[in-house]
Amino acid sequence: MASELRSFHGVGPRLEQTLTELGIRTAQDLLFHLPFRYEDRTRVYPIGGLYPGATVQVEGEVEHAAIVRGRRPMLVVVLADGTGLITLRFFHFRHSQKQQLARGTRLRCYGEVRSGFRGFEMIHPSYRRLFGRDDDALSDRLTPVYPAPGKIGQATWLKLTEQALERLSRGDLALDELLPSGLIDSDGIPSLADALQYIHRPPAGADVAALVERRHPAQQRLAMEELLAHNLSMQQLHRRQRTFRAHPMPSGSALESDFRQRLSFQLTDAQERVSVEIHRDMARDHPMQRLVQGDVGSGKTVVAALAALRAIGSGFQVALMAPTELLAEQHLRSFSTWLAPLGIEPVWLSSKVTGRKRQAALDAIAGDAPLAIGTHALMQEGVEFARLGLAIVDEQHRFGVHQRLALMDKAGGEATHAHQLVMTATPIPRTLAMTAYAGLDTSVIDQLPPGRKPVTTVVISGERRQDVTARVEAACREGRQAYWVCTLIEESDAVQAQAAEDVARDLQASLRGVTVGLVHGRMKPAEKQAMMDRFKQGAIGLLVATTVIEVGVDVPNASLMIIDNAERLGLAQLHQLRGRVGRGAEQSSCVLLYGDPVGQLAKQRLNILRETNDGFRIAEKDLELRGPGEVLGTRQTGMLQFRVADLARDQGLLDRIPAVAERLLADDPELVQRLLNRWIGEADRFASV
Ligand code: ADP
Ligand code: MG
Repeated sequence: MASELRSFHGVGPRLEQTLTELGIRTAQDLLFHLPFRYEDRTRVYPIGGLYPGATVQVEGEVEHAAIVRGRRPMLVVVLADGTGLITLRFFHFRHSQKQQLARGTRLRCYGEVRSGFRGFEMIHPSYRRLFGRDDDALSDRLTPVYPAPGKIGQATWLKLTEQALERLSRGDLALDELLPSGLIDSDGIPSLADALQYIHRPPAGADVAALVERRHPAQQRLAMEELLAHNLSMQQLHRRQRTFRAHPMPSGSALESDFRQRLSFQLTDAQERVSVEIHRDMARDHPMQRLVQGDVGSGKTVVAALAALRAIGSGFQVALMAPTELLAEQHLRSFSTWLAPLGIEPVWLSSKVTGRKRQAALDAIAGDAPLAIGTHALMQEGVEFARLGLAIVDEQHRFGVHQRLALMDKAGGEATHAHQLVMTATPIPRTLAMTAYAGLDTSVIDQLPPGRKPVTTVVISGERRQDVTARVEAACREGRQAYWVCTLIEESDAVQAQAAEDVARDLQASLRGVTVGLVHGRMKPAEKQAMMDRFKQGAIGLLVATTVIEVGVDVPNASLMIIDNAERLGLAQLHQLRGRVGRGAEQSSCVLLYGDPVGQLAKQRLNILRETNDGFRIAEKDLELRGPGEVLGTRQTGMLQFRVADLARDQGLLDRIPAVAERLLADDPELVQRLLNRWIGEADRFASV
């Protein structure tokens, strides 16, 4: 079907296809594709008054044009305007260009001024020849520059947006005002049409800095609307879930009290409170949709185990899904240890379980296995639960919303859905949680178990490795233990394993009297476990590891954590790693070694960890510095991709959204639908279940 854009001049099947791939199908989509910077071509500057570094427009007559042969041929043009001379240099040129730029030709050029060998220069300015016609008149608008993925040139973007704006001003393009009252103080907020005109063709003298940072009211208005639409779509999704039925599980059983009695510790007040919230939800006959947030080590797993026991005790099955094999294995271990005395043995399912073992797991899940633990393999086709009552998802943000709901649907039957508990180990800044998890009920475990000591963190240049190894040696001599984490990003398991092996060998050679162990993702689970066990028993002093130890490792006697090339990891991940120490009686420390040279920004980031142990603050900072995709790890899921809004920048806009969204959902379903159509569209980025 030909899109609306086919009626635009210059849009043929090829361009249409490219635009479609960018998600641009309508004139409205086109206008939501915003410029990312602007050029001021509204004025012409006298050449005599230029200074290096300025990006400006000049006009003059060609004095001289020649191709200079050197290592690379270069077209050199000298331009004069009566106030001075400027040299234009082109490394990429066609020979016909020289003819076009013959002496006496009038040119208007735009580019950055540099000081060159013989006065001012511009390298590859954009230029046009002037013939004294009407279209030589200077524009009174700033020239937008569009992000140009898909190889669509600026000239094309300009022509396309020009046509869309024309239609808009002629009234041929109806863009309804959908921004409800109460979101922005209405004074000074332009209408949607005015906002788009302004953003695409700002007048000379507009606040370009604000525009480039997208803080101008014209842009904020759009961002606000988009964030609202996003929130509405998430809320709607969860509301729909709530209309489904679930099995109520109102009362506890002996399983829960047995479990508590066998625990070697008492739950913290925060754990108790969150547990009550969960059990209250599970008592209802609609599916629970609860997110449990808690800093590293706050003890989310026990709380999840209590929820699992509530479901099992009520005669239902439980599925626990984690995003990585290793994290799932850790859960398998904790749950096996805790629940074995209660006669409950978890079924294990990951994509590595194949053949007869897989069939046995599937049979158990379709039969009467009370608990299945695994990776996303759990929600794949062919996995049929007999009577799933509770789905627990750890580190949910690494899964898409689709995936989470897919697991819930495994409850069997059209009408009945499983209760759903989402746990996140990476504390999410409130603003992000409000957006990414709009519509989920939230509980926070805001207290660490007693006896945890804040970890002292230092940031040290990699050049001082010697000092650090000496420190490891000293600690081990005192009977303490240490981790040495090797970081490599986006490399294969094999490369990581190799790197870690090299580091382990070097360290073993330089550390006297210290036994060095090694764990990495390439090892078999049993090998990994054997190594971890030896570390736990104290037979190993220094454990070299890839980031596989990020989660779940618990050795209280380990009080020193070295992270090599720490700048390669996000703050939240570093915080997770650091959470592996500080669990025992000793004062613990964490050494962040950075590779040289390290950027200013990278060092500034690492210093944040030195300043605070508060996971939420760290996550906020991470959000500011790296953006939401990185913090949530959702780049690939597309769940937080906005056209205009930016969660880090627009945090201030988020506060009012939930209340307005609630009101609209209750009072104005039609407006809700129109907002969703505009911003979420057919792309249906959040799956309707
Ligand atoms: P996280 O919230 O990071 O997933 P875990 O659930 O893995 O944390 O718990 C971290 C460690 O703290 C585990 O060894 C767990 O057994 C222990 N733990 C949990 N709750 C308590 C508590 N109330 N008192 C003491 N230790 C606890
Ligand atoms: Mg955990």
